[in-house]
Amino acid sequence: MINNNIIGLIIDDDFSSKNEPPYPHPLFFSYETPLRIQSIILYLEYKNLFNDNRLKLLKPKEIEESIILLAHTTYYIDSIKYLSSLESAILNEEVFITKDSFKLAKKAIGGAIKAIESVINKDVCQSFALIRPPGHHALREGGSGLCIFNNIANSILYLRKKLNYNKKIAIIDIDNHFGDGLAQYFYEDPSVLYFSIHEFDFIEGDIGFINELGAGEGLGKNINFPIPMNSVDDDFLEFMKIAEPVLREFHPDIIIIAAGFDMYYSDPIGNCLLTSSSYYKFTEKILKIAEDICEGKLIFILEGGYSLLGLPVCVYSVMQALFKEKYERPAFEYLDFSKKSKKNEIDKIKSSLKNLLSNYWSSFKKKN
Ligand SMILES: [Zn+2]
Repeated sequence: MINNNIIGLIIDDDFSSKNEPPYPHPLFFSYETPLRIQSIILYLEYKNLFNDNRLKLLKPKEIEESIILLAHTTYYIDSIKYLSSLESAILNEEVFITKDSFKLAKKAIGGAIKAIESVINKDVCQSFALIRPPGHHALREGGSGLCIFNNIANSILYLRKKLNYNKKIAIIDIDNHFGDGLAQYFYEDPSVLYFSIHEFDFIEGDIGFINELGAGEGLGKNINFPIPMNSVDDDFLEFMKIAEPVLREFHPDIIIIAAGFDMYYSDPIGNCLLTSSSYYKFTEKILKIAEDICEGKLIFILEGGYSLLGLPVCVYSVMQALFKEKYERPAFEYLDFSKKSKKNEIDKIKSSLKNLLSNYWSSFKKKN
């Protein structure tokens, strides 16, 4: 039986206290800190969200180490364990390791699994996992871009291999950065649709182009929607004109949002100009689609978002949309970026992408 209007929120004190980069060591400067989750919890408290009886607080699932092996190699897992035992290390130029890293990254996987399982089991209608470190850049044998283990990929492989859950899954990745890890895990998998909207700054060696469409049986099921830097609220929502028909045609059993909020205008890493309204409107739209096609089974898994001012507000805007409550952006988001719209460039991306997708999706089939 569906538990009406109950939203699951996966939280754990460790996410707001552990894996602090060892400042003031300059090599360890990182925006991926416990303050991210602390700021979200404080803001949700301030907004009285925890008094809402439609909110169900859930703990991450306790997982065995063997679960991580579904998505990562023994060598890589052992490396993270070893580096954690050193108490402070750098995996590569962007991933710092502390004594807590292995345990917290493992717990983040458990958080993502809990968020997804609780929706599939209809314990809650939708869920949001407030976990860190993020995961969408992590590969089978390597972390990058602040990510250690790939929380979403690991959760999906857990569903597939441990629960025999073989239904179709859609991932919509709204983080500012291309989720190269997620794309690679499912590039040839026809049962997982990966759709990423990301800022594209055309640095040599980057991936995330529109012509990366998947391979083999997965052809057409990897969709990239790169947008220019400085894109604004209206520009962002344009991707739904491609994502919506694809989702309705694909008809997944669940929709997972790789929920990064680093397109926010004051984010120190992303270069877009979104306000929290974008995330509210996006959630309204995606919830409606989920209700139409998959009994509202929608799961948000936190990825990036490093503005301690913006991240809490964006998460709150998503929660308000899930609760079907009104949302007004806070007074400090007074800036009007609309004149900076990148509409022309985004229209070009949209029409090129529709053209490419016409080979795989009847929604975009060319009429003779
Ligand atoms: Zn990001």
